[in-house]
Amino acid sequence: MDPLYQTNFQCICCESSYPTSRVRPSFKKAVTTDTDFCGYYKNGINPDFYVVRVCPSCGFASTENGVSQLSDRQKKQYYEQVGVRWSVRDFGGERDLDQALACYKLALLTGQSVGEKERVIAGILHHIAWLYRYQGKAQDEQRFLRFALQSYIKVYEEEGEQLNNARLMYIIGELNKRVGESSEAVRWFSRIVNDKRIMDAAMIRASREQWQQLREEMADAEQMSVDGLTDNKEHRSKSQPV
Ligand SMILES: [Zn+2]
Repeated sequence: MDPLYQTNFQCICCESSYPTSRVRPSFKKAVTTDTDFCGYYKNGINPDFYVVRVCPSCGFASTENGVSQLSDRQKKQYYEQVGVRWSVRDFGGERDLDQALACYKLALLTGQSVGEKERVIAGILHHIAWLYRYQGKAQDEQRFLRFALQSYIKVYEEEGEQLNNARLMYIIGELNKRVGESSEAVRWFSRIVNDKRIMDAAMIRASREQWQQLREEMADAEQMSVDGLTDNKEHRSKSQPV
């Protein structure tokens, strides 16, 4: 069975209708997942590659979490900032990693031009970081993890504690950890673990694990710098991580 199927979608910008591919539910299960939810799939069929719908006529790119209609002003902003440079391209069929990356970048530009919700922008930035991770481009991945982190923090500041935001707080902690901001990461993980109002058991467990791992890493790093200062070779060789 073909893991992909096609569905028609009507562009909310130019109103033309176009086919876009989706992954069948039975192929959507990740074989493994990173601690920031980046998924890995069998046979290179990654459902994340098909999240963004790109209109071949006007280039408007969106996800199903994005705005469902546009004001005339938003359409004008899109055309002036992004659409004017669009030349007809079709992303409706099977997508490789580079094409998926192009689609997410279009979704980012589109979202920014129409003032899309910060939560949607944050998700797009995070996905771009994952695509760079699949490619092994660590520097680009780090750059987009930092953008995503800033964006998630804005979401948290906007939504505050009105929602059950344990997962968002965990992601903020986790991205801090991944960009090397260990003390910030600890601060977020400890908030999740210690806040009695948070009931999300999975996020509490994950935060506790990540917090513990960071504590060990930080203790190791401290020990290594102490060893470096005293230049105690015997001690240093013992405390180096294997
Ligand atoms: Zn369109």
